[in-house]
Amino acid sequence: MDAKVDSIINDVAIMGAGLAGLTAGQTLTAAGRAVEILESSDHVGGLATTMEHEGFRFDLGGHRFVTEDPSLEAYVRNILGDDCLTVPRSSKILLRQRYFDYPLRPLNAVFGFGAVTTARILADYVRERLRTRVFGRRAVSLEDWVIGHFGRTMFDLYFRDYSEKVWGINCSRIDQAWIAQRIQGLSLGAAIKKALLSRRGRDLPTLATHFLYPRLGIGQIAENLAAQIRPHNAIHTGTRVTRVNHSGATIDSVEVVQAGRRRVVAAGQFVSTIPLPILVSALRPHPPAKVMAAAARLRSRDLVTVAVMVNRPRVTEETWIYVPEKTIPFGRIHEPTNWSRCMAPEGESLLVTEYFCFRGDTVWNGSDAALAARTIDSLVRLDIIKRHEVIGHVVQRIANAYPLFEVGYSEDCRIIYTYLRRFSNLYTAGRGGMFRYYNMDHAMQAGMDAAHEILKAYQSKSAPTLAATAFAKASA
Ligand SMILES: Cc1cc2nc3c(=O)[nH]c(=O)nc-3n(C[C@H](O)[C@H](O)[C@H](O)COP(=O)(O)OP(=O)(O)OC[C@H]3O[C@@H](n4cnc5c(N)ncnc54)[C@H](O)[C@@H]3O)c2cc1C
Repeated sequence: MDAKVDSIINDVAIMGAGLAGLTAGQTLTAAGRAVEILESSDHVGGLATTMEHEGFRFDLGGHRFVTEDPSLEAYVRNILGDDCLTVPRSSKILLRQRYFDYPLRPLNAVFGFGAVTTARILADYVRERLRTRVFGRRAVSLEDWVIGHFGRTMFDLYFRDYSEKVWGINCSRIDQAWIAQRIQGLSLGAAIKKALLSRRGRDLPTLATHFLYPRLGIGQIAENLAAQIRPHNAIHTGTRVTRVNHSGATIDSVEVVQAGRRRVVAAGQFVSTIPLPILVSALRPHPPAKVMAAAARLRSRDLVTVAVMVNRPRVTEETWIYVPEKTIPFGRIHEPTNWSRCMAPEGESLLVTEYFCFRGDTVWNGSDAALAARTIDSLVRLDIIKRHEVIGHVVQRIANAYPLFEVGYSEDCRIIYTYLRRFSNLYTAGRGGMFRYYNMDHAMQAGMDAAHEILKAYQSKSAPTLAATAFAKASA
């Protein structure tokens, strides 16, 4: 079939309508630019989407909004208007039928298992610190990093099973960057010191006490962004980018499949927020074999969520409950009505469980009925719900939920970024788009940065250099 070439009216074509793509689109639209947004799924929002089912609402895994940047917070508050709630955070780890604070409040964790385990944790930690001092080892994997900062007993008790559940690979193969980024600056020694000084250890890094949340679920951010874009520019859902055509140092057009028809979309500038390996494999002509091989090695972890509806107004007190034990098939639970009361009909509630998996494995391919039965059995076994309270369930499958940081991934990213830098009018942004462990704030900021660089380039009429800027940031 011949591809239809649309007339060249776009200043910018944006691949993907998640928060990075939409923030880029809204910023460019507000500046009066002609933009076309191309999204493969049938809705906007990407990972930050809220589903609706018979009066129940739930995110694809609960999404809280937190940022350290006051201007980004103001941007989100402005997008949400009166629908922006401030919600207290309270997360727990459920382990051996006991609840521990999450992120780990180390003193609570150290003393939670009684005197013998406490002594082992402390002795272990001291031994590891001495070893690190004497041998000066560099942490490569998640396992190295956690043992260096918390000791082996803490690693075995708290970190190993949960990390392996999330990533599906052994902790010695998970790059340390993920955990180091997540619990930055935290170590057992630092936590003990701080706890002794402050008594409560409340101001440890990673302990945000409140977060922003839209009244109708996280998807409201994307929907409101889209509502600001649509009067001026097109957002095409159900439109998959299949090819990215280039000549030398310039991207010329992208090819999409929309309602079974192939179409060519031309533009002056291109922003990609689609997963980095998909972008690389869509490039025509193909990049050199070394770049293709690097992209093929970058994998993602996928997610299945099972929402269980109950005829009880409230089940837990928590924002999230982390469930590391491998005997329980899911890794995390959240109760959306603790985030906003509008997430369920009056007098009812729901629990959303997250199964980390790979597309094509037994979880991903499991039938909805089997997944729901397994989830309900586990929730009953954990004494969180009673079987007779269940009034419904919904299963969702989410591809490319987490870029998978296997040891060696950063070298593959470097190879790809080095190649992509040649394109003067291609900008990458977002979590999958940059293959970074980005939360919503970072994804939105990256989309905004891409838009500002494009606007700057238009103003100066010079060839944009953002590609280099974005890639430099991504590899920093
Ligand atoms: C379970 C879970 C919980 C999370 N919780 C939080 C949280 O509490 N707080 C927080 O800040 N962040 C959280 N995040 C991270 C957050 O979801 C992301 O940072 C953010 O949504 C990423 O936005 P994005 O636009 O970069 O990517 P995406 O949302 O992945 O958007 C990319 C878009 O590109 C589209 N696409 C893919 N391929 C193509 C193609 N070929 N053609 C066209 N379109 C294509 C996709 O359909 C998607 O819509 C969580 C993520 C997960 C998975």
